[in-house]
Amino acid sequence: MSLASKLTDERRSRLAAERMLELKQAELFAANRKLGKHAMELSEEIVETRAQVATIRGENQRVKSDLSAANQKIAIAERRLWHSIETINDGFAFFNGDNEMIIANRAYLAIFDGLEMICPGVNYVTILQMLTDEGIVNTGDMSGPEWRQMMGERFQLSKPEPMVIQLWNGNYIKLIDQRGPEGDVVSLGLDITATVAYEEQLKESRAVAETANRAKSAFLANMSHEIRTPMNGVIGMADLLKDSELDEEQRLYVETIKNSGEALLVIINDVLDYSKIEAKKLELHPEPFDLERAILEVLMLLQPSASAKGLSLLLDYDLFLPSHLVGDPGRMRQVLTNLIGNAVKFTTEGHVLVRVTGVPDMASKTLSLHVNIEDTGIGIPADMVDHIFGEFNQVENERNRQFDGTGLGLAISQRLIEMMDGEIWVTSEEGAGSCFGFRMNMSLTDMPDWEAWRAPAGLRHVLILDDITVNRSILRRQLAQLSIEVTECETVTDAQIAINASVDLLIVSEKDAPEMVTYLENATTSVPIVLLTSSSTAPAPVETKNIQGMLQSPPSRQDLFELLGKIPFKSMAIAPEVSKPTRPEVADDLRRMRILAAEDNKTNQLVFRKMISKLNVDLEFANNGEEAVTLFQTFAPDLIFMDISMPKMDGKEATAAIRAMETENHTPIVALTAHAMDGDDADILAAGLDRYLTKPLRKPLIVDEIEAAHTEEMLPLEPSQDAG
Ligand code: ADP
Repeated sequence: MSLASKLTDERRSRLAAERMLELKQAELFAANRKLGKHAMELSEEIVETRAQVATIRGENQRVKSDLSAANQKIAIAERRLWHSIETINDGFAFFNGDNEMIIANRAYLAIFDGLEMICPGVNYVTILQMLTDEGIVNTGDMSGPEWRQMMGERFQLSKPEPMVIQLWNGNYIKLIDQRGPEGDVVSLGLDITATVAYEEQLKESRAVAETANRAKSAFLANMSHEIRTPMNGVIGMADLLKDSELDEEQRLYVETIKNSGEALLVIINDVLDYSKIEAKKLELHPEPFDLERAILEVLMLLQPSASAKGLSLLLDYDLFLPSHLVGDPGRMRQVLTNLIGNAVKFTTEGHVLVRVTGVPDMASKTLSLHVNIEDTGIGIPADMVDHIFGEFNQVENERNRQFDGTGLGLAISQRLIEMMDGEIWVTSEEGAGSCFGFRMNMSLTDMPDWEAWRAPAGLRHVLILDDITVNRSILRRQLAQLSIEVTECETVTDAQIAINASVDLLIVSEKDAPEMVTYLENATTSVPIVLLTSSSTAPAPVETKNIQGMLQSPPSRQDLFELLGKIPFKSMAIAPEVSKPTRPEVADDLRRMRILAAEDNKTNQLVFRKMISKLNVDLEFANNGEEAVTLFQTFAPDLIFMDISMPKMDGKEATAAIRAMETENHTPIVALTAHAMDGDDADILAAGLDRYLTKPLRKPLIVDEIEAAHTEEMLPLEPSQDAG
């Protein structure tokens, strides 16, 4: 090999080695750079981890300090809580599920007055034992063991009721125990001594207030009574003046005086009654009475005001319901007058219907009675329904206050019904009407009046012609209960179409009678007719022999069936006419009836004299009881009217003296009393008086008494027709 080739080879090898070196150097450099980068990353990671460690350390530190602060706070709160529990005057204790005391405050332990065994760990049973053994608690009527048993059982309950115990020193502790879900018990003993004393005080104050209220009511009752006496004079005199000769203007004045006086008397009577109820001086006087009659009497009284407004007054007394009951008829009438009177007062058109139903129980001889008074009047707003039963409460709206009144009627009625062990309520719709109802149990008398009614022979079909629907339906129900077929007609045309040979009786309203009668006469149909009249005055005469009688609407069941019983249906013979008693001939040796009136008040004497001035009697006045006794001997009266409160000797004493003097004859003595306070009437009758009349005097009642005592040996009371 040539040198040149050798050199070339050498150069080539060197160049290759140099290139290899360069390559390796580049690789090394790259590896170095990678290493450097990795080292950099590692160191960054280390820095980061260090920072994290520092943070965690800081947080640990903070948590530690927070924990210790929280612990401190808990300790403070616990201390404060316990301090508070310790400082309260009421007892506090905590028991575990085994009824062992865990903790108790000073007040709780103080009750045990230093008994060492009462401390945390003690069982509730031991506590009860100590309470009784040491005489700490007043167990009342119970023995120690009984009391402990009762208390132990109570403590075991999941929800013991709070209870009050009394300690030896008179203090009252109210125990409130609450068992938690784990069975542990928080026990509180509240000292309620002051509250109990306060309640006691309240009770006393209430009793004082009630006494004062009763005194007020008694005062009101006396006042009203005192006002009634002079009112007697005012009304009596106005009544007499009315009958004298007056021109139109004077008559108006007198009537105004009389009406105002009577209105005032109604108010006074309401106040008097309410005061008597409040003062607990009102008593009921049960006696047998006829309920249906009582309702009819009230309806009769209200008929004029109802007719004046064109209202129909209706009674629907269940046909087979007894009406002879035992109750206080006066008070029952008062309730009925209030309720029916209100219904008439607050109704301007339509009707007022009294519905009486009930369930008799013949075994116990009682009747569960229901009375409803339904009207089509102005109604009562829903939110006023309870309000109106309060004293002096009325609905205060424009519509309502066109009507006057005291607002006492319902309050009195409610109290009276409650006294009769009954209940009163009202349902009403404003603008449509109201329905007042009451129910009560009443005793039945021995008069089974409703069983005797049967349909008269020959009466099978009745046609009723009246445009008032309720009127027809009441009659229909009553007749249907006797198995009588009823056809109802609202108009004369309907009746003309409906009438046929099967109709045995036509009951027709007074209004439709003339037209119907003319039609029947033209048709030569002769069917018995009964007129139904709603006014208290006589109806316009309808000329036909077929009219068999007249019924006042609402008719009592008695009137209805008595009248039906008298009608000769079809082939039945006409009942012989009952002969009327004739006035006896006046004999020569008759004397005038002698009447003695003992009355100290001159005005009342004058009123009395005037009231009987038209009667043919001899009248003497006694100014006091003593004079009455003297006149009894000298004047020998046939009848005595006796005022009760008189100077020197009162009416009761005078009567006793007269009764002591009487031998065979019994002189009727009628008390005249303004004393409407209860108990008086019983006293009056016990003193030997026969009856009593309450002032203000009423002419018809006085005349009734005189007529009752009048006998055939006396001159007639001519002209007795004018007397009433
Ligand atoms: P008075 O009728 O004297 O106001 P009440 O105690 O009898 O007193 O009645 C109280 C109130 O109840 C009446 O003023 C009236 O507002 C309301 N009220 C009673 N009865 C009725 C009735 N039938 N219809 C509408 N409102 C009535």
